[in-house]
Amino acid sequence: MAKNNNKHCAFCQRGVNEVTLLIPGPEACICSDCVERAHEILKEYAGVDADEQTSSPDKIDLPKPQEIKAYLDEYVIGQEEAKKFLSVAVYNHYKRLNQDKDDVDIEKSNVIIVGPTGTGKTLLAKTIARLLKVPFAIVDATVLTEAGYVGEDIESLLTRLLAACDYNVKEAERGIVFIDEIDKIARKSDNPSITRDVSGEGVQQGLLKLLEGSVVNVPPQGGRKHPEQRMIAVDTKNILFICGGAFEGIERKIALRLNTHVVGYGSGRHITKMDQERLMHFVAPQDLRAYGLIPEIIGRLPVVTNLEPLDRDALKRILTEPKNAIVKQYTKLLEMDGVELVIDEEALDYVVDKAIEYKLGARGLRSLFETIMVDVMYEVPTTHEKQYRLTRDFAKRQLDKSNFDLLNAGRKQ
Ligand code: ADP
Repeated sequence: MAKNNNKHCAFCQRGVNEVTLLIPGPEACICSDCVERAHEILKEYAGVDADEQTSSPDKIDLPKPQEIKAYLDEYVIGQEEAKKFLSVAVYNHYKRLNQDKDDVDIEKSNVIIVGPTGTGKTLLAKTIARLLKVPFAIVDATVLTEAGYVGEDIESLLTRLLAACDYNVKEAERGIVFIDEIDKIARKSDNPSITRDVSGEGVQQGLLKLLEGSVVNVPPQGGRKHPEQRMIAVDTKNILFICGGAFEGIERKIALRLNTHVVGYGSGRHITKMDQERLMHFVAPQDLRAYGLIPEIIGRLPVVTNLEPLDRDALKRILTEPKNAIVKQYTKLLEMDGVELVIDEEALDYVVDKAIEYKLGARGLRSLFETIMVDVMYEVPTTHEKQYRLTRDFAKRQLDKSNFDLLNAGRKQ
């Protein structure tokens, strides 16, 4: 025998210095990479087995639209219209799933949410999935490319959904997929060019198949790095797709259709003036088409709703009101050390002002708050104080000290 069993992985034959960890057994060793590979193979087989199951999962205990909306209210601030639209769309979608087979064929209604980044698109989709206890996956449309090109195959977006439910195919087949940045795969121009639009129209064509419902072969590990992997067949008929995108500049398309003029986009012949925000309320499938989504895709996303930009008041409410609001989390954390957290109104206003100044939106609230609180969280548990009061001055000092402005300088415009 050429190799010493104690110093080599019995599977890949690599030596102790070539692997991260070598796990010894009584007769042989196995390296951490081979353990991981074996685990993946097991998962792959688990998925295939689940596919062969004949029993369908239990019916979803479906809350009424108003109950769905009330649940969303606990986590998502504002966005009333979108919450209502989504609640109805989700209710109808899962009602369709729960119905007896040979009834009227109710078509599925995937949803597209248009709105600036950081206004709650992902949060809405995630919260609904949590309420219904169905598998949920978020994918970024920008990484997808037409088969055969650099990037991820379109089918790979179902890989994440499978992973979210431990490769239980039946569960995945009634999950929710949130496709973010769908606007980034808009057709680049109306002119066919010599270079193929592999990440635009090509991807839209590929997505179409998934949105309308078909059986697709999904690589369990995603990507194209594992050509040997066994594909898992997934039927997308009952998967709810929620697409989101900022669709920057779509106001101009809406204005054109409504024959109005957008305030702030130069002058021109117009009938009425309307600001960007109000125009977004009128977003319709035709505008998405004008923006570069192909008509077939739009036809498969019948529910269009828009999210509003978050104003100062909404940002402040996001800090304190949602069930998992950052202020509530910190209050709880300190409470566990026997310390009461008291926050001055001005300190909250300061955090909101900074989020606006750095154009960080709601997404920045957490990092701002964490930066401000890090020293407090470090010191308070050992100082045995009963109460900690966060003032605006302290918040400002902490941010100045941390060079938060420099770290976020790139975002400032
Ligand atoms: P996007 O619209 O880009 O998908 P997200 O939903 O990912 O934005 O929002 C980013 C973060 O900002 C969320 O995790 C949440 O903490 C916060 N947030 C954004 N919008 C809201 C909202 N309307 N209500 C409560 N929190 C929000």
